[in-house]
Amino acid sequence: MSDIINILPDSVANQIAAGEVVDRPASAVKELLENALDAGATKIQLIVKDAGRTLIQVIDNGCGMSDSDARLCFERHATSKIHKADDLFAIHTMGFRGEALASIAAIAQVEMKSKLHDSELGTHILIEGSDVKEQTPCACPNGTSIAVKNLFFNVPARRNFLKRDSIELSHIEEIFKRVALINYNTDYSLNSNGRLLYDLRAGNFAERISQIFGNSYRERLCPVDEQTDLANIRGYVSKPEFARKSRGEQYLFVNHRFIKHPALSAAIEKAYTDVIPDHYYPTYFIHIDIDPARIDINIHPTKTEVKFVDEHALFAILRAATKKAIGQFSLATELQFNPIEEVDFPPAPKGYIPTQPRVHYNPDYNPFESTRQSKPSSASASPRPAADPKWKSFFDLDTPATPAPSDTQTSLDMAVPTIPTLADSPSESSPCLQLAASHIVSVLPSGLLIVDQQAAHERILYERLMNQSKAPHAQQLLFPVNCQFSPADADIFNELIPELKGYGFEIGSIGQTTFVVSATPPDIKESELQTLFDQILVEYKGAMIQKFNDRTQCLCRSMSRQMAVKPGTILQQSEMQQIIADLFCCQTPSVSPSGKKTMAILSPDQLIK
Ligand code: ADP
Ligand code: MG
Repeated sequence: MSDIINILPDSVANQIAAGEVVDRPASAVKELLENALDAGATKIQLIVKDAGRTLIQVIDNGCGMSDSDARLCFERHATSKIHKADDLFAIHTMGFRGEALASIAAIAQVEMKSKLHDSELGTHILIEGSDVKEQTPCACPNGTSIAVKNLFFNVPARRNFLKRDSIELSHIEEIFKRVALINYNTDYSLNSNGRLLYDLRAGNFAERISQIFGNSYRERLCPVDEQTDLANIRGYVSKPEFARKSRGEQYLFVNHRFIKHPALSAAIEKAYTDVIPDHYYPTYFIHIDIDPARIDINIHPTKTEVKFVDEHALFAILRAATKKAIGQFSLATELQFNPIEEVDFPPAPKGYIPTQPRVHYNPDYNPFESTRQSKPSSASASPRPAADPKWKSFFDLDTPATPAPSDTQTSLDMAVPTIPTLADSPSESSPCLQLAASHIVSVLPSGLLIVDQQAAHERILYERLMNQSKAPHAQQLLFPVNCQFSPADADIFNELIPELKGYGFEIGSIGQTTFVVSATPPDIKESELQTLFDQILVEYKGAMIQKFNDRTQCLCRSMSRQMAVKPGTILQQSEMQQIIADLFCCQTPSVSPSGKKTMAILSPDQLIK
C-alpha cells in the first residue's frame, strides 16, 4: 500500500485551529479588542455590521505594526509577546499564543491598515482565507485598523450555526463589556449598524461601571479593597438588598482579564449566605491582582479559564473581603428582607401511611362578590374571575352537603372556586398569624397551614397578570418617573414597550436611552420601576439566549417577582386572609412561578408526632 499520510497545508491547519479560537463573531471581537489593548491603545473603537456577520472592525491608536510585522502577524504562532517557554509564567499581555489573527484570517476576508508612530507611511494588507492578496503602502493614522469581513465565508457549517442577530449582538456586547469594564483607563466605543451603542470615556472603575450599567448602580454597590501578600482584591459588590433571583452582572477579573472561575464566584456568593435569601445572587465586579507566576492562563485557547496555585487561600481571602465590605457598610442590618427559612418537616416514621388532609369550605362562596374586605396595599388582591380549583389535589375536599347552585356547577372542572372557610368570611374565620415576617400560619380543619407569603403572592400576581385582559387598569403617576438604560438595553426595552403597555404602563421616551413612565399597573411602586425594568431586561435577555421566546411569560414572571410582598413585610390580618383566599383560586397554587413551594400543611397526626 502506498503512503497515505500528508501534511495539511497551513490554510487548512489554520482553519481547524480557528474552530477553537473563533466560534462566533463575539470571539473574533474579543481577540481584536485584546490585541488593541496589548498594543497600548488609549482609544479603541469597535464597529460591527449585522452582529459581526458582515463586518467586525477594531480601530486603535496603539503602537501599530511595521510592513513586515503586518504580514507576519497573520502566520500561526506569530507573536511579539513571548519568546521562550519560561515567558509563559510572566504574562502581562492579554494575548501570547500567536494564533488569533492567523485563525481569523483563515475564515474571513481581512483588511488591515497599520502605522508605527514614527513612520511616515503605514501599510495596507488584504488577506482572504489565509492568502495575502495585496500589500501596499498607505497613508493612515497611527495605530491599527483591522476589518474582518464576511466571517466564516468559507466555512458554511459554522455560518449556519450562528444564531439570529439579536443573540449574536448580545454576545458581542457581553465581550465588549468584559473588556471595557476592567480597562477603564481606555476610551471605548461600540457602533452597531451605524448606531452608537456605547461611548465610554476613560475614568475609574466605578465610573466605568455606571457608564455601562447606568447610574443606579452607584447606590447598589459597596467597595471591596483588600491588600494581601498573595493578591490584591479590589472592586464592588452589591448591597444585599439588591440581590437578584438570577445571576445578573457577575464579573471576575484576574490581572485585567475576565475569567470564569466557579470556585471563586462561590467564595463571593458564600459571603452573602446569611444576608440574602436562598437562590438570590449578588452582583459583583471584582478584580484580583496577582503575581502572574501564581496563575496559569494557558489552559484554554480563549483564556477565560485560569488555574490558581493558591486557590484555597484565595477563596478565603475573597470571601472575607466581600464579607467585610458588606459588613463595613452595615448593610446587613438594613436588609429589606430576611433569609427565607425553609419549613423543615421531620421525616415520617417507617411504615407510616399519611392520611389525606381534609378541608371544609363554603360552597356558597362567590368570588365575584365585592363586599369582602379589600385593603389597598401592595399585598391586597382584588377578587377575580374563577379559576380551576386545582388546589383540590392538595386537600381531599368534602363534597358539599348542600350542592352549589346548579348554573355554576355543572361539573367539577367548571365549579365555582371553593376556598377554605377561613378565607371566606374573615370575621368568623380562624385568624392568621405571621411568622418571622415571612410566613403566614393558619388553621385548617385538616391541619396547620403554612404559607410562604412571597412565593404565594408571586403565584397570585403571576396568574392574574397572565390572565389579564388587554384592557388593564392603569394608575396615572402624579410625577412621571424617568428610567435609564444602556443604549443596547434601551433597544431591547423599546421592543418590549408595546407588551408593557398591555399591562397598564404608559411609557414614552426622551432621547435614546431615557424613558418616562407616566402610568403603571396599580400594584407597582414608583420607586421600584427602574429595578423592575432592569429585572425584566435581565430575564428577557437570558430567555433570548436560551431561545425561550414567550415574552408574556417572561414579563409576567419578572413583574410578579417584583410586585410580590417581600419577607420582612408585616401583613395585616385581612391581607393575610386575602393572600390565602387568592392563592387557593390559582391554577397552580402549590408553587411560585419560579418553582418555589408556596405552602405546606401539617396534619394533626404530624403535629402530634
Ligand atoms: P497574540 O496576541 O497571541 O500575540 P495574535 O494573532 O492576536 O497573537 O497577534 C499576533 C501579533 O500581531 C501580536 O503579537 C502583535 O505583535 C501583533 N498585533 C496584533 N494586533 C495588533 C494591533 N492591533 N496593534 C499592534 N500589533 C498588533
Ligand atoms: Mg492576540
